[in-house]
Amino acid sequence: MHMPEPYRIKMVEPIHLLPKEQREQKLKEAGLNVFSLKAQDVFIDLLTDSGTNAMSDNQWAGIMMGDESYAGCRNFYNLQDTAQSIFECKYIIPTHQGRGAENLLFGLLIKHGQYVLGNVHFDTTEAHITLKGGQPVNLVIDEAYDTSTYHPFKGNVDTQKLEQFIEEHGAENIAFMLITVTCNTVGGQPVSMENIKQVSQICRRHGIKVFIDAARFAENAYFIKTREEAYKDKSIPEIVSEMFSYADGFTFSAKKDALVNIGGMIGIMNDEELYLRLREQVIIYEGFPTYGGLAGRDLEAISRGLREVLDFDYLQSRVGQVEYLGSLLTEAGIPIQTPVGGHAVFVDAGKMLPHIRWDNFPGVALTSELYLEGGVRAVEIGSLLMGKQAPTELVRLTIPRRVYTNSHMDYVAECLSNINKRKEQVRGVRITYEPPVLRHFLARFEWA
Ligand SMILES: *Cc1c(COP(=O)(O)O)cnc(C)c1O
Repeated sequence: MHMPEPYRIKMVEPIHLLPKEQREQKLKEAGLNVFSLKAQDVFIDLLTDSGTNAMSDNQWAGIMMGDESYAGCRNFYNLQDTAQSIFECKYIIPTHQGRGAENLLFGLLIKHGQYVLGNVHFDTTEAHITLKGGQPVNLVIDEAYDTSTYHPFKGNVDTQKLEQFIEEHGAENIAFMLITVTCNTVGGQPVSMENIKQVSQICRRHGIKVFIDAARFAENAYFIKTREEAYKDKSIPEIVSEMFSYADGFTFSAKKDALVNIGGMIGIMNDEELYLRLREQVIIYEGFPTYGGLAGRDLEAISRGLREVLDFDYLQSRVGQVEYLGSLLTEAGIPIQTPVGGHAVFVDAGKMLPHIRWDNFPGVALTSELYLEGGVRAVEIGSLLMGKQAPTELVRLTIPRRVYTNSHMDYVAECLSNINKRKEQVRGVRITYEPPVLRHFLARFEWA
C-alpha cells in the first residue's frame, strides 16, 4: 500500500506563481540564468537540497533551548552524545558547514603532492583538496556515468582501480581515502555496505586512512536496507553504525541529512592526536571547539535532526518522493538517469533536446523553459557547469526534505511534460557574458 508522508503540516509558507509575462520579464533580467532570479519570483524551487530542509516542531523547540555560552554550551554536549551514539565516534568538532570541516581536516592530513582517493569527490571537496596541495582522484565504477542502465549502487568505488592505483603510486603518496555517501556528483547514487567494507579492508592493508563524506549518510543507509539483500532485516541505526565502523572519521555537511538549514562537523573515531590538532585549528578558522562557528541553537537543531533522520518511515517517504517524480517523468517519456538517486531526479536534457548543440547548452535551455512554463527552478549540470563539453547534459531537480508534497511533484512533472510535447521548438542559448571562474553562477545568455 502507498503510504503518505509520516508528518502533518502545522506551519505554512505561502508561495506564488507570477503571471507568464512577468516570468518572461524576470528571466530576461536574469540573463536566462536561474541563479540570478530572486527566490520570491520562483514558485517551486528545486535548485538544491542543501540547507533547504523543513525542521520539525521538535527541532524548533530545540532552537528555543539554545545555550549561547561561548564555551561549554549544553547543546554541544547533546550533539556530542547524539553523534557518539549514532556514528560510534569518540570525538566531534562542529563547523559552520561541510566545507569548514573539509578545510580543517584536509589541512592537517594532506602533504604537498599527495593523492586523495574517492568514489567521486564533491566540488567543494575537490577544491579544498587542491588548495592544500593534494590531487583528487575519482575511482567510481564505470556504470556511474551510464545514465540509462540500472545498477543498484552506482556510487561504488571500483576496487580493482583502487588496488591498481595504490600499486602504481605507492601508499605513502596517498593522503587518505574519502568515500562520499551517497555520491552527490553522480546523482546521489548510493554506495553498498559490501563496497565500503572492501574499500576499507584494502586501504587498511596498505595503512591508508578511510574517511566518509557523510552528508547523506541516512539516505545511503536506506538504500543499503532496501537494495542489499543481507541488510533487509537490519535497522537503519544498525546499518549506519556498521558503515562508520569501517572508517577512521568523517566530514559532515549538516545542511543535508541533519534536516537543518546550516551546520557541519568532523567526527573522529579514535585518533586522539588528530582530534587534539583539529581542536587547535578549529579555534583559528571556525570558533571555540564547543561551537565551531554555530549558535548553540543550531547545534541543538542538528542533534535533534540527526535522531529524526534515522526513522525508516521518514526515509521511505523522502526517497519515495524522489522516485515518484522520477516515475512520472518516465511515464511522460522524458529521459532521466536511472535509477534515481536519494535527493534528486536528473533529466537528460541532451537526449531530450538532441537538436541543441552542447555549446548552445541544452541544460540551460531546459531550465529556462521550465521557469517560463511554471515558475520551477532547476539547475544545469552539464557543459556550462563543467566549463567544457560535458559527457552528459543533465538538469537536476533537487528535492528539499519535508518541504513539498507529491502534489507539487505532479505539477513539476506536468510542466516538463508540456515542454516535452513541444520540444522541437525549444531553442538553445548563447553566452553573452561569462566570468573567468565558476561561470555557471553568474553567466548571462540570450536565446540562440
Ligand atoms: C554539500 C556537500 C559538501 C559541502 O558542504 P557545505 O555544507 O555545502 O559546505 C561536501 N560534500 C558533499 C557530498 C556535499 O553534498
